[in-house]
Amino acid sequence: MAINVPLSRQFDYRPPRDGACPQPGCRLLVPFGRRRAVGLVLALADSTDLPEERLRRAIAVIDDEPLFSAEDMRLIRFTADYYHHPIGEVTATALPALLRQGKPLVPSREMLAISDAGATCDLVALARRAPRQAQLLEVVADAGDGGIAADALTESLPNWRRAARPMLEKGLLRRFAARDEPAEDDAAVETEPGPALNEAQSAALLALRDRAGFAVSILDGVTGSGKTEVYLRLIQDTLDHGRQVLVLVPEIGLTPQFIARLRARLGIEPAVLHSGLADAARLLAWRRARAGAARLVIGTRSAVFTPLPNLGLIVVDEEHDPSFKQQEGLRYSARDLAIARAKHKNIPVVLGSATPSLDVLKHCRDGKYQRLVLPERAGGALPPTFRLIDLDRTPSLDGLSETLLQAIATHVDAGGQALIFLNRRGFAPTLICTACGHVAECRRCDSRMTVHAHDSSLRCHHCGASRRLDADCGECGAAVRALGAGTQRLEETLRQRFPDRRIQRIDSDSTQQRGAIDEVLALATTGDANILVGTQMLSKGHHFPNLTLVGIVNADQGLFGTDFRAAERLAQSIVQVAGRAGRESRPGEVIIQTGFASHAFWRCLIEGGYARVAADELQERAAAHWPPFSRLALIRSAAHRQVDARRFLESALSLIVQRDSPGLRVFGPVNAPMARRAGRYRAQLLLQAGDRQALHRLLQHLRPLLEEHPHARKVQWSIDVDPVELL
Ligand code: ADP
Ligand code: ZN
Repeated sequence: MAINVPLSRQFDYRPPRDGACPQPGCRLLVPFGRRRAVGLVLALADSTDLPEERLRRAIAVIDDEPLFSAEDMRLIRFTADYYHHPIGEVTATALPALLRQGKPLVPSREMLAISDAGATCDLVALARRAPRQAQLLEVVADAGDGGIAADALTESLPNWRRAARPMLEKGLLRRFAARDEPAEDDAAVETEPGPALNEAQSAALLALRDRAGFAVSILDGVTGSGKTEVYLRLIQDTLDHGRQVLVLVPEIGLTPQFIARLRARLGIEPAVLHSGLADAARLLAWRRARAGAARLVIGTRSAVFTPLPNLGLIVVDEEHDPSFKQQEGLRYSARDLAIARAKHKNIPVVLGSATPSLDVLKHCRDGKYQRLVLPERAGGALPPTFRLIDLDRTPSLDGLSETLLQAIATHVDAGGQALIFLNRRGFAPTLICTACGHVAECRRCDSRMTVHAHDSSLRCHHCGASRRLDADCGECGAAVRALGAGTQRLEETLRQRFPDRRIQRIDSDSTQQRGAIDEVLALATTGDANILVGTQMLSKGHHFPNLTLVGIVNADQGLFGTDFRAAERLAQSIVQVAGRAGRESRPGEVIIQTGFASHAFWRCLIEGGYARVAADELQERAAAHWPPFSRLALIRSAAHRQVDARRFLESALSLIVQRDSPGLRVFGPVNAPMARRAGRYRAQLLLQAGDRQALHRLLQHLRPLLEEHPHARKVQWSIDVDPVELL
């Protein structure tokens, strides 16, 4: 059995005393230590290593049919193996919250119906004697043989239960439980025709249709090149064959716009799965998918685990997006699991991106993935032009250069819209004392506090701590000053400069309330907002028809990043946000401000585009033996005392060196780049190997030893296979 605890072992139980023997894929309620736990049956066995007296008996079988098919279980096992993560926690990730808690798959509803005796009862006589009973009898009788739900009764007759009691005793009414079955199939929705495909799209579609069985293809097409149109055709093919389709999108990509487009074009109601859903809604969508009733499932990362009995195609849109990788707990990549799942099922998987990750590009070079290029924007829109602004030579106001401000005026005066991009929310990233130079820092993290002006607070963006912003320095009492710019400050500066224009800020602070994001995006889409200021929340998937100017305020953080993926990430985020400009008839312009205008990266990006940056980067990675030319795993530890965090990794290191692992390189242990976060000291040990199997075997050997290790008790630790952030 798999139980949701951070231990790799599986747990053996006897079947419950009464009831049928559960099948693999069913949940059981079991005693676990002094509490009860919900577990998932992995397999049935005739024997166990546990001594007779320690083998406990399960309390009850929760499911009368398996929640997961053998195929679904295979993905769960694969995930646990590949990521070296406890299978109980993998199972928990794969289950909707309500099922994880042991709630029934199909919630049953309390129903009331009229009995034969009730049907022949003299209503007039009853009304004289007991008017409330008569009223209830009438309402229930009206509902017919199927009866009426107790919830519905409560709405019309709030006190019905008191009247019902004697009637149930006399047998005038009958009470039963009904299962809330999912709707049989998707309701048909009226469809809209799509545009005729252009040459590149047709060629890509032809190549995709040509592949039967497992194949990985990447649609490498600039933003607006019509990738979605190609997916739509392929999805339609698959639906026509009576099979289900799974579409995975990044967290910010799951917009109402995108869902509406799929619904309108395919004429079916997709089941949507994302983390913002209420638990009951999520379970309902999951059940529709599992029953085969939902033919199209769209979701973010964890939707990759959704049971889909008839799966025929998986699409991963914006494949390069970091949100496909979970950064805590089970650190899986939904993209990579999608590929594994397609392989198990022998079906095609289509990835799409304007900025494919280097991992994917390398597989294309090796001939493992098929690369299909859509070189131009569909519908005749031209690619945007790029301009670099040297901040050392241009006067600027709170981070905005005069050149950029003038360009905003020109574009907005001409009826266009401007998007000002800065990946830093808040008012200013630093609060400094004008006299002693003291900088406000978080007390629990090795980081600075961000100034938030609207409520005069200082906030830590790493641990969430906040405190009041004082006008005087806490050290010397002199005046303090906010240094640098965040999106709030840009918004304020732009308001002063363009008092007659409508300015909309879009970041996680301005869109905190439920539904706010949709409202804000609607303003941006209609063009009612002349100037948009925002973080990467703005960079993906959105189509703002009026947008002609993109200004990138400060991209330099990425130029000197410590992570070996810094250049790849920077190029991706610039190209993605630039792709918002000029998507319709008016041409777009992209202005990039930098303090390092002569850095080779800029020439490479502006002259050769993402493809050139990617090619150069691949060369460097090959030379330095970084992924995708090697495999990494990162062991992290965190503890209240630095010595504990380090000592645990020292122990891990000694276990590693005791074993001969050819081709393995070990870096560390070292303190994490942010050595203290939320009051915990963090350290890490990086493992690199040329060959995945060598690394895999080592981790397989290591994990149980670490779980048992006495030094593990004082730390929180994790293994991250294929880490995307070395933080
Ligand atoms: P991507 O997914 O690559 O960003 P989309 O499929 O969203 O691109 O297409 C961008 C825009 O171009 C959409 O408005 C779409 O309707 C339009 N479009 C796509 N393909 C064509 C085509 N062949 N002819 C005309 N317009 C097209
Ligand atoms: Zn903090």
